[in-house]
Amino acid sequence: MLRKTILALFLCAAMSSLHPFALSAESGRSVHHDLKIVLNPSEATLSGLDTVTVDARNASSLALLLTQTASVHSVSISGNSRTFSFKNAQLLIPLKSSDRNGPLLVTIHYSAAFHDPVPDTFANTDNPGYGVTGIISERGTFLQAGAGWYPEIPGSRPTFRLLVEAPAGTLAVTSGRCLGHETKKARTFSEWETGFPSEGLSLSAGPYAVTEKNRADVTIATYFFPESASLSQDYLDAAAKYIELYKELIGPYPFQQFSIVENFFPTGYGFPSYTLLGSTVIRLPFIIETSLGHEIAHSWWGNGVLVDYRQGNWCEGLATYLADYLYKERISEEEGRQYRLQILRNFTTLVNPGNDFPLSQFKGRYDPPSQAIGYGKAAMVFHMLRRSIGDRAFWDGLRDVYRAKLFKEASWKDFQIAFERRAGVSLQYFFEQWVSRKGAPQFSFQNPAIKKQEVSWTVTGSVVQKEPSYELDLPIRLSAPSSRQDNKILVRGTETAFKVSLQDRPSRLVVDPECDVMRILYPSEIPPSVNSLKASSSVLLVLPKTAFSQSKEIAGLLAESLSLKKFRILSEDELKDRDLKENDILLVGLTENVSPPFKKPEGLVLQKQRFKVNGKDYDRPSDSFFGVFRSSAHEERVVALFQPLSEKNADEVARKITHYGRYSYLVFREGRNEARGTWPVGESPMVYHWEEE
Ligand SMILES: [Zn+2]
Repeated sequence: MLRKTILALFLCAAMSSLHPFALSAESGRSVHHDLKIVLNPSEATLSGLDTVTVDARNASSLALLLTQTASVHSVSISGNSRTFSFKNAQLLIPLKSSDRNGPLLVTIHYSAAFHDPVPDTFANTDNPGYGVTGIISERGTFLQAGAGWYPEIPGSRPTFRLLVEAPAGTLAVTSGRCLGHETKKARTFSEWETGFPSEGLSLSAGPYAVTEKNRADVTIATYFFPESASLSQDYLDAAAKYIELYKELIGPYPFQQFSIVENFFPTGYGFPSYTLLGSTVIRLPFIIETSLGHEIAHSWWGNGVLVDYRQGNWCEGLATYLADYLYKERISEEEGRQYRLQILRNFTTLVNPGNDFPLSQFKGRYDPPSQAIGYGKAAMVFHMLRRSIGDRAFWDGLRDVYRAKLFKEASWKDFQIAFERRAGVSLQYFFEQWVSRKGAPQFSFQNPAIKKQEVSWTVTGSVVQKEPSYELDLPIRLSAPSSRQDNKILVRGTETAFKVSLQDRPSRLVVDPECDVMRILYPSEIPPSVNSLKASSSVLLVLPKTAFSQSKEIAGLLAESLSLKKFRILSEDELKDRDLKENDILLVGLTENVSPPFKKPEGLVLQKQRFKVNGKDYDRPSDSFFGVFRSSAHEERVVALFQPLSEKNADEVARKITHYGRYSYLVFREGRNEARGTWPVGESPMVYHWEEE
């Protein structure tokens, strides 16, 4: 979802009882923009004519925000020209007493240029738009809400009617419903209307071909460049399926249209009723399967029900739970379990006391750790809620929040109240420990023992956790070769004694076997992965003696795309023994003289001209291997190897690796992912075994 762009506005303190006009978020006073924009892509400019309808009773002046570099040509109120000042991105219009009787029609004529440089490559994904907020060009146009491309009243949630005029063939697309595209006299006109209040409007324009799918209550449209036309049908079908899913789960789709829009530079944005995806992005295989559904889930959560950011952004966790996670759960229980396990692994690998924060402070992701918290941990919080209060109360509670808060702000507290009402229990402590507190518990066993009773076997012991302790129902599974029993024990405080029994002689005791609890894992439960590098405190990128001519650039690209915080690029000759202990290592090609300092998993063959993974040989020049291993020099360090068999596609692959954070190894052919997986892990300390008698 669109990260909230916060525009600060400082108004001089008003000394009279009248004050400069400003709206608070919930003031309820409606603002409407009737906006006409003429795009001049060859000059990177636009000219705008905005007629704002606003009720400014009791205000001494009206303040609007517009990009600093704009020129304001004229201002009129109800057709009469007015004086104004425009300074530091603020347009200030003094009001007369006669203006205070009712709604005003304020017309502003302005022009502005937008030419943010755009990146060509797709290296780092932590910022969904690469910091680009406004560009008008012959390749395409993107004007983000908050960029000041139209005069904005801070704090307002306006509705819009928008007419965009552009050179013939350039179609404009935005939130809301399309009223039509028409070309006459070598100009193309696009008309849009939003029937809902929104925090801001973003606009895209380009040489789009439009394909539509009309359902009874919603139009689904793709705005793709002609060369992407073949992708359109799959996107339309998938979007229709996702909208249907959430209609059933939550309630009616809140908009009249959903548009999937291609961007000429790599973005992954979700705006109300439209998503903006870069050309490279729409071709990634996982976009249709997960990201598209995630963006559509935001139509209900984030763009439908708005986030009260003062108490933390809950919408990423909820969208992750109801999209990325739920799709797995619907495939199978095991897929759902694997997804939850991955959340625990990501959190344990990426988050540490130095970068942790409570969910109540999450605004939006800016790096992998903030994502592990705001998306991953938050999704687990919704999962634990659902487990704790049951499916019925959970879904009813969500539907209640949706009905009550559509197009209004909601906070974690609103969810708490809704779930409490449906479940009939207090969730105060639950929300306190999971939302207001950072971190997660780590459990261990103490003195597990079995004893034969008259007709059954009893297991006693205690579960131990550190301060600050968590209070929760901890699942414990007791199994024998031919039977098993799932129990829940209420853990509270640092040590909780338990007693569970089974008919047969138990052979195994497992804590949280289905990964239903947000908890810190032990190193033996986590295979080394791409995320281990992303979380590293220090990485050495090592170039082999006979490196490819581009190896150094590739090393730089890897460091950038993996968002390495601290790294150094050096040659094999410069690598000292001591370095292996103090750093994680990323070999950019097989080293010549030293054998790679890691233990090779069984069956893996790595040579200069070929490699073998999972029994399959790879020897084409376009083949490349990426693997992360436990270092043989230091058990908490990892050694990674990027081994392209030639320079062909090497830079393309180097940029993609970051998307596969959870995996231990990846194989690419012609730049496409061919195989991926994780190395097997050791036994968890959360599993206890008893030998047969
Ligand atoms: Zn999201």
